[in-house]
Amino acid sequence: MPYINENFIKIPAAYLFSEVARRVSQYASENPGADIMRMGIGDVTLPLPDVCVDAMMKAADEQRKVETFRGYGPEQGYDFLRKAIVENDFASLGIEADEVFVSDGAKSDTGNIGDIFSGSNKVAITDPSYPVYVDTNAMGGRAGEFVNGCWTDLVYLTCNESNQFIPDLPEEKVDIVYLCYPNNPTGTTLTKDQLASWVGYAQENRAIILFDAAYEAFITEEDVPHSIYEIAGAKEVAIEFRSYSKTAGFTGTRCGYTVIPKSVKASSESGERVSLNKLWHRRQTTKFNGVSYVVQRAAEATYSPEGRRQVDELVRYYMENARVIREALQSIGLSVVGGVNAPYVWAKTPDGMSSWDYFDFLLKKKNIVCTPGVGFGASGEGFVRFSAFGDKDRIAEATRRMLS
Ligand code: PLP
Repeated sequence: MPYINENFIKIPAAYLFSEVARRVSQYASENPGADIMRMGIGDVTLPLPDVCVDAMMKAADEQRKVETFRGYGPEQGYDFLRKAIVENDFASLGIEADEVFVSDGAKSDTGNIGDIFSGSNKVAITDPSYPVYVDTNAMGGRAGEFVNGCWTDLVYLTCNESNQFIPDLPEEKVDIVYLCYPNNPTGTTLTKDQLASWVGYAQENRAIILFDAAYEAFITEEDVPHSIYEIAGAKEVAIEFRSYSKTAGFTGTRCGYTVIPKSVKASSESGERVSLNKLWHRRQTTKFNGVSYVVQRAAEATYSPEGRRQVDELVRYYMENARVIREALQSIGLSVVGGVNAPYVWAKTPDGMSSWDYFDFLLKKKNIVCTPGVGFGASGEGFVRFSAFGDKDRIAEATRRMLS
């Protein structure tokens, strides 16, 4: 008789976005004339940059001819893209092309990276967080039991007003730490010094930092590191995840990459220090067959001078939305963070309302949809997230409604 991976049935159903959708569709069917503004979803709304579409069309055309047709590509990505990544995103940081693994996005990589770690590792995750970190550790048996809304074996790094949403170093020793900066959902960032203290922690405790930089392109302030490898010593202790999803509108096109310097090592049971680059290479070449040539050419196109200009334009568009949302929320007296180096604004609900109560209030009284913060973890209770991915005129209208 086949048995299932029991860990899967311990995981609560993915409730957040389905419950948001259920409440919105119920309200819409009861109020057919309502003009509902959706500021909840983290999907982009602007189309792909022209340079990417042109590159895809050219690459697609190559598939017509026997001389230029491509079959299976290298699982880790074509050299042209890995080189472009190293030259453009990691210039002067000493990352080499064979330390870059191209993939179909940061969700797969942040989720699958657990394959190369033992089930016995102690894992710390910021709270609130992108739900993939918690759920995939639960699937991998590293989370323990789900009791009263929390996993018994995870270390939750609380991010709230009392620490300005900057996680404190864990008091106990942990083996793996997930950090996501700029952060989803809070939109907050770490300064170089703050990130350096995490690298220091990892060095002292022989921990690995899994650094999710999916929103790196949205950084506008000087002292905010774009890559963890800007911090001395990080090349021994950190893995970094990047994505073209939000940067260049690839949420449907799918491309991202993971950097694993050859110097990042973890221990085998026999005490040998093993390169994680080697293990991930083994994992990817076994379980993954690469991103399509056409899509990798589109990703490469984002690095041309015109590509950079078009990508910057997308980012600026969303960040202007973020500014408008942030200022509107502030002017109705809400306490907010984020929206300066990230396309998310994290607002404290008024009068101690719960996340869901404020969600319902905004839906029913203002016809605005946000995301209840508690859906990202217990420390998100009492907060809501607004996404800057949307049409600027619709966002302007939503902010007028908030102010009225
Ligand atoms: N990491 C974070 C923090 C995200 O918010 C998201 C998407 O919302 C992802 C990763 C996934 O990105 P991708 O589209 O590259 O899978």
